[in-house]
Amino acid sequence: MQYFSLNKNAPRVGFEEAVIQGLAPDRGLYFPESITPLPHSFFKNIENLSREEIAFEAIKQFVGDEIPENELKQIIAETLCFDFPCVPVEEDIYSLELFHGPTMAFKDVGARFMSRCLGYFNRHSDKKVTVLVATSGDTGGAVASGFLGVKGVEVIILYPSGKVSEIQERQLTTLGKNIKALEVDGVFDDCQDMVKKAFLDDSLKHKNLTSANSINIARWLPQMFYIFFAYQQLKKHNKPLILSCPSGNFGNICAGIMAKRLGLPIAHFVASTNANDTVPRFLAAGNYEPKPSVATISNAMDVGNPSNFIRIQQLYRFNLEEFEKDFTSHSFSDTETEKAIQDIHHRTQYIAEPHGAVGYLGLKKEMAKQSDSLGVFLETAHPIKFLDVVEPLLDLKLPIPKQIESVLDKEKISVKIKTYEDLKTFLS
Ligand SMILES: *Cc1c(COP(=O)(O)O)cnc(C)c1O
Repeated sequence: MQYFSLNKNAPRVGFEEAVIQGLAPDRGLYFPESITPLPHSFFKNIENLSREEIAFEAIKQFVGDEIPENELKQIIAETLCFDFPCVPVEEDIYSLELFHGPTMAFKDVGARFMSRCLGYFNRHSDKKVTVLVATSGDTGGAVASGFLGVKGVEVIILYPSGKVSEIQERQLTTLGKNIKALEVDGVFDDCQDMVKKAFLDDSLKHKNLTSANSINIARWLPQMFYIFFAYQQLKKHNKPLILSCPSGNFGNICAGIMAKRLGLPIAHFVASTNANDTVPRFLAAGNYEPKPSVATISNAMDVGNPSNFIRIQQLYRFNLEEFEKDFTSHSFSDTETEKAIQDIHHRTQYIAEPHGAVGYLGLKKEMAKQSDSLGVFLETAHPIKFLDVVEPLLDLKLPIPKQIESVLDKEKISVKIKTYEDLKTFLS
């Protein structure tokens, strides 16, 4: 499979090159040159397939012959080492729980898949790749855990000092080995700016820097897997499916639309956002005006200019009319989100965290318009990761899951930095 840059000003590359580069040289996102739907028989028979078989069919055309079939199957098996249950919350509404992995957020899937692809590409080479990521919390932990011990890959995570939760900080500072944490005296945007600057810095070319957020195709594409798993579980109800994704950089929802292009019968997509409402405003007013992000309680979605939105537009060939038939986007305030967490728990006993609750709200709004459908919202993180919000709202104490317990007593190791020069010194 060849990938082209959505800025249309860079050479086409294969899967390996696109993964190693992350972003094309013209700063555009990579996009596959063709998308071939899966045969009808695959969907007819999906309930009889294993998760590994489904994932392999979904991704194989995008990898092509650059990873041999048996190696790709091994990568998939290691990626999918946990469950993705669709849990009934209320009549016709399900929560697709994506938080049963090692760091308890959906980003485990993409991080594990990408790290193993890089490990494969480096199998015979002494060339080192440096994964550089800025995190506001969840990405860092998933990347640290997913890339731990992968051959030829060094991971450097920048996080804002004092601005991530204690659990999140432990997840990214305690692993050691090839994982290094830089504690930045600043906010998330400062971390992000330093990373962007490093990617553009010619004097760092020899470091082979790449990114591990959803702009990287090896993080984005495997996120299709669990949308297929949701369909596999809910197909028996024989109702049109509405999928609501709590959205920040719009990677998950873009993977969902990609799955639909492969033939997966999803009737409608809802991109649910917090106060960072660039996309809902675009759909309401017709002009795309990104603005600086604002802080909310669903902080993994505090994104002012969602990087994958351009891929979604490409999937609809920039035809707004076609796009709006399949896609709606709604924004919710923190107050509405808090109320939803309480209301869901009060009525159903289900404990949602802020991101899932935003997804739930968007789903309810859409389902009020489309009766006789079945709704799924993504529960993208475990409530324990947002215990500061959830516990006081519900007046309860959440038990600490074993994945989290295992990092709490480990020693934090980080290097404090303040400026871009500090980062350069650290890198060289
Ligand atoms: C990253 C993240 C999101 C946003 O996902 P996108 O694919 O960037 O839209 C939502 N919830 C949680 C918990 C996250 O960590």
